[in-house]
Amino acid sequence: MYIPCKIIVKILMNNKGGDFIVKKTDYNTVFVPEEWNEEQKMLKQMIFDFLDQEIHSLESEHQAAKDLPEIIAILEKAAQLGLCGVAIEQKFGGSDLDFNTGLLYMEAFAYGFSFATTIGTHVSIGSLPIVYYGNEYQKEKYLPRIATAEIKTAYALTEPSAGSDANSGRTKATLNKEKNCYLLNGQKMWISNAGFADLFIVFAKIGDDDKLSAFIVEKEFGGITLGEEEKKLGIKGSSTRQVFFEDCPVPLENLLGNRNDGFKIALNILNSGRIKLSAAALGGAKFAMRKAVSYANERKQFGKSIGEFTAMQFKIGEMARKIFTAESAIYRTGRNIDKKELELKENAVPSNKIKLKALRDYTVECSLMKVYASEVLDYCVDESLQIHGGM
Ligand SMILES: Cc1cc2nc3c(=O)[nH]c(=O)nc-3n(C[C@H](O)[C@H](O)[C@H](O)COP(=O)(O)OP(=O)(O)OC[C@H]3O[C@@H](n4cnc5c(N)ncnc54)[C@H](O)[C@@H]3O)c2cc1C
Repeated sequence: MYIPCKIIVKILMNNKGGDFIVKKTDYNTVFVPEEWNEEQKMLKQMIFDFLDQEIHSLESEHQAAKDLPEIIAILEKAAQLGLCGVAIEQKFGGSDLDFNTGLLYMEAFAYGFSFATTIGTHVSIGSLPIVYYGNEYQKEKYLPRIATAEIKTAYALTEPSAGSDANSGRTKATLNKEKNCYLLNGQKMWISNAGFADLFIVFAKIGDDDKLSAFIVEKEFGGITLGEEEKKLGIKGSSTRQVFFEDCPVPLENLLGNRNDGFKIALNILNSGRIKLSAAALGGAKFAMRKAVSYANERKQFGKSIGEFTAMQFKIGEMARKIFTAESAIYRTGRNIDKKELELKENAVPSNKIKLKALRDYTVECSLMKVYASEVLDYCVDESLQIHGGM
């Protein structure tokens, strides 16, 4: 692989990951999925069993446009099993899984179709900003009720004119006359879980600031209205709506981190989301392959199972190759992030900085994984569909 020197130097200077390109790796330290312990395997099985019962037993998948109460009920049942507080510290009612087990959790939930997006949003982008950047007051106030799903969360960054260029958002936070709260005004779009969220992490600019700030916004504060459910191509069981803020009053103490920290918060949360999405893509790819193998064995043409034809075997072989590569790389990175956390702890780095710093050191890998695993998923779903013929 040719990698321009400039990129290598940049990676090393910024310490944002990609070490595997330029440094020697001790293969004894590389994690392989065969190392999952009994507890981790049980967690995965528990999620599969839960999804069999709550999702796969349905005649047809729930639709956010008409089945929100049912979707909410499943999220609450997941919380009863302790599945909504996996990234939250134990003192706030969570189980604080290590990073790699968190990836395994995401892989397992991909078996839940749209529900993977619902719970993924709740445990990840909707609550991690508080886990990583909240002060003790904010954590105590919100995290225990997020872990039980009494509070359901969403993450509101994207706007009609601000997608990839997220910092160009126009939503404003202005101090009210009494200077005791911010008034939020603006519009967010494509917000997952918006249809039922009780709490939104909202990114907005204070006054004439150039940079975003982040706010914890309760639906109950008022001044929030929702658009209709979006008519999406897929994941129809996941709620996606526009969110409008009109003089929504947000207490000063609900500013997350410091003023102007919003873009940094948004990017760091998305960075952790990238590798988590790759684990979810891996779970989806495995599901597509299992379906393909089972159909190829069962369907007979020309007097044989179609799985006996070389062309079908090639497709399945390619799926296995790609899945194996993605799985190896994702969990290797996850374990490295965990190891980095331990190293930072030993070096007395403040506890609230450890997770973020460990993740930052693997920014390159997180991005690589998201692209690669998404392509693997794309490939496996397409080929699985071909194997299913006109089904
Ligand atoms: C199902 C779904 C759920 C979502 N959930 C959430 C959510 O919960 N919260 C939230 O805040 N947002 C959410 N989003 C929004 C999502 O994060 C945005 O769609 C994403 O950031 C991209 O923005 P955009 O769609 O405006 O695309 P654009 O930014 O307009 O991009 C369009 C195309 O241009 C390309 N492009 C843009 N800039 C460049 C560049 N500099 N160089 C080269 N190419 C470029 C892009 O890669 C893309 O191919 C969701 C979206 C979907 C579809």
